Parts: sequence; structure tokens; C-alpha cells
Amino acid sequence: MDRFKKREVVIAGAGLIGSTMALALASRGFEVTVIDESSEEDRIKRNNGRTYALSRSSKNLLKNLDLWDPKKLNVSPIKKIILSAKNQTKENMRHLVEFRTENNMTDPSSYMIEDWYLRAELIEKLKKNKRIQLINSTKVLNDETDNYETKVMFSDGSSTRSPILIISDGRESGFAKRLEKRVFRKNYHQAAIVGNIAHENDHKCTAHQLFLPGGPLAILPLAGKRSTFVWSLPQERGNILSRLRNLEFLNHLKDQIGDTLINLSLIQEKKMFPLYLKFLRKSVNDRKVFIGDSAQSIHPLAGQGLNVGLRDVATLADILSKGKKLGLDLGSADLLGEYDSWRSFDRISLVTYTDLINTLFSNNNFYLRTFREFGMNVIDNSRVFKNFFIKEAAGEYGTLPELLQ
Ligand SMILES: Cc1cc2nc3c(=O)[nH]c(=O)nc-3n(C[C@H](O)[C@H](O)[C@H](O)COP(=O)(O)OP(=O)(O)OC[C@H]3O[C@@H](n4cnc5c(N)ncnc54)[C@H](O)[C@@H]3O)c2cc1C
Repeated sequence: MDRFKKREVVIAGAGLIGSTMALALASRGFEVTVIDESSEEDRIKRNNGRTYALSRSSKNLLKNLDLWDPKKLNVSPIKKIILSAKNQTKENMRHLVEFRTENNMTDPSSYMIEDWYLRAELIEKLKKNKRIQLINSTKVLNDETDNYETKVMFSDGSSTRSPILIISDGRESGFAKRLEKRVFRKNYHQAAIVGNIAHENDHKCTAHQLFLPGGPLAILPLAGKRSTFVWSLPQERGNILSRLRNLEFLNHLKDQIGDTLINLSLIQEKKMFPLYLKFLRKSVNDRKVFIGDSAQSIHPLAGQGLNVGLRDVATLADILSKGKKLGLDLGSADLLGEYDSWRSFDRISLVTYTDLINTLFSNNNFYLRTFREFGMNVIDNSRVFKNFFIKEAAGEYGTLPELLQ
């Protein structure tokens, strides 16, 4: 028997993407149910200490949903980005390219945001919203779909019905496996060690991307005299470094970044993530749409995973509200097909370029090295190229859905 009455939209997974999706749809007048297998406390605890580079268009989405309060979210703008490289650990850093906000006319192209603040704000807004039913600690098991609706089954034995099921169950998506979706997957044999550090000097809102032989190391500015690091390394070396005590680990980090930041101390325990590329060839199925990491999970070197998921959210909200205004079936193949084609260019280009940059820079081959350094030199001396890359980082290309503007 159905425990819940029929809902306009059901969302499986209340991570950052599923939660934002629920708020975006509620802002367009939809009645939404969002379910997560974990409790709110678990989600906050599990992701504590994580940080994200948020593009300007993602900031617009948060602003449009009344979620953007820089003070409350403890945001730090990124005003300058410096790309450098080292071919050997002991070598000095070689400057490749520098991007400044002044290369662009408007706000910074990106901001650093901390999971703890963003998630807390999302949970508060979800709970206050009368159009949203948030169910915690309950797993979405599967669905039975016909021409009219989809019946969604939960782990507590209850179920609900809806014309559409939005799936945001993360990069190990159980739904994608169960539906045997065609997936492009590539193991990078790399791991990312991430963590936050306090330091004595001012970071001057500067982000550093340092290309090392084993993978890129990003140092990104947080509010105050704090920064976050995302260090991608070959898996075996990652395993060794992640087991080191804090002081020993910091010595290795210092060897790489020199005196960019001084007197470092770790704020929280570092975390390690295995890195792989996962991409669903088609992000829609009968009355189902995959968004966020469940649809694509990319290398973190460009800090774009959450941003691409937020672009999924804004596009789907646009398409479903247009469908609702026209009185269309929200789970119809036409509407979902429109979503899939609108998103495909952005998804494919991001997957391709993050993969290419990682391959190009995590390799010490002489020809690749010469090629990339020649390319970087061209970019560093070209205002046109710089403005193009800043617009990419800001997530402002192609036709933008209303919520990203
Ligand atoms: C090292 C690293 C650094 C990164 N840095 C950046 C960055 O700087 N900028 C950026 O934009 N992105 C970054 N990302 C990417 C970003 O972290 C992800 O894209 C984003 O967190 C994905 O959110 P999500 O909501 O799609 O998935 P998740 O956070 O995985 O959420 C999935 C949710 O679904 C729930 N769930 C799973 N199965 C079920 C089920 N059957 N029923 C109910 N609930 C279920 C889970 O409990 C979870 O809460 C980075 C990623 C990594 C690994």
C-alpha cells in the first residue's frame, strides 16, 4: 500500500545535487519528495572538511534559490589563478599561465565554498519549504514503470508514485547498475588526497594549480588564512602519503609548494578519494533522469564536478517547468529527450577536456611536455584565450537555463 500520496516529482538522493534539485523545482511550484538512505547528521559528518570551487553561474543558481549569502556560507572569492609545472620533485616551479579577474569585466569567475556551510543551509531550506517532503534514513530500492507513472519502492516497505523519478544517488549509482546503463568508465589509477590547512601568510585569494609528474596539486583559498589542497597522485603513492602523520605529510606538501604558503598546519584529518571517470552515455531512461555524479563523475583537477551537476539541476528545472506550464506529462520521452540533448554537449566537452588535461600533464614524456608548455605559453600571451578559459571556468557558455543567469 502507498504510504505517501502521489507526488509530482520524486528524487532519489539528497546530496548537494538532489537537495538543490528539490529546491529548484519547489521554486517553480512543484510538489517534491526527496529521499536519502542516510541521516542528515551522517551526510554532514561524512562530508565535513570538503570544499568546492563554485563557478559564477553556479553562484547565480544559489542566488536565484535564495541560498547565496557569502557571509553565512563563509565564501572566499578566487581573484587570481596561477598555473605552474615541475618535471621533477626537487625542481623549482615553472610559471605557465596566470589568470586574473581583471582579464574579465565582472565578478570573480569562481568562489571557494565549504561543504559544512552549504549543506547546513540546504537542509534548513529543505525543511522549511512546504512543497518539499524530505525523507531521511530510507533507501530507494527500485521502481516499476509503465506508460503512465513510476512506482518507487523504499526500504521501509512503503512506496510512492510519480510521473518522473530523478536519480541523484552519487558516482557509485546503484540505479545505473540496476538498470544496466551503458557507462564509459576509465580508471585513472590515481587518488586525490584532500584537506584544509591554516597558514601564516595571506593567500590573496589566489588559486594555484601545480602540475606535477604524478598528477596535479591544487591549492585553493578559503576564508581567512586557510586554504584547501587537492593532490592527485598515482594510487600507490597516494596510499603511502595518506597514511603519514600530519607533520610528515605536511613536509611532503611543503616540498611541492615551496614558500607559497608558510607555517602550515592541518585543520582537519585529510581524506582520500580514488579517481575515475564515469559517464552515462544517456542520462535518461523510461521516466527517469540521472543528474550530478550519478550521470557523470569527472577528474577533480578543474573543480567542475559539482558545477556540472548544478547545471543539470538548472536545465532540468527549466524543462520540467516548461512542461508543466504546457500541461505535458513530466516523464514523457519527448521532454526527457530534450533534457538529454541540451545537456549532452556540456557533459561530453567537460569529460573530454578534464581527461585530456590530466593525461597531458600527468605524463613526463618529452614531446608531451614540449607541446603543453608551448600551448601554455600561447595562452599566457593571449587575452582572447584567457577570456575564453575564464568564461569556461565561470560556466558561462552555450544557452544558459534561466536559473543560471
Ligand atoms: C577530490 C574531489 C574534489 C572535488 N572538488 C570539486 C570542486 O572543487 N568543485 C566542484 O564543482 N566539484 C568538485 N568535486 C565533485 C563533487 O564533490 C561532486 O560532484 C558532488 O559532491 C556530487 O554530489 P551528488 O549530490 O551528485 O552526489 P553525492 O554527494 O554522492 O550524493 C548522493 C546521495 O545519494 C544518497 N543515496 C545513494 N543511494 C541512495 C538510494 N538508493 N536511496 C536514497 N539515497 C541514496 C547518498 O546517501 C548521498 O547522500 C570534487 C570531487 C572529488 C572526489
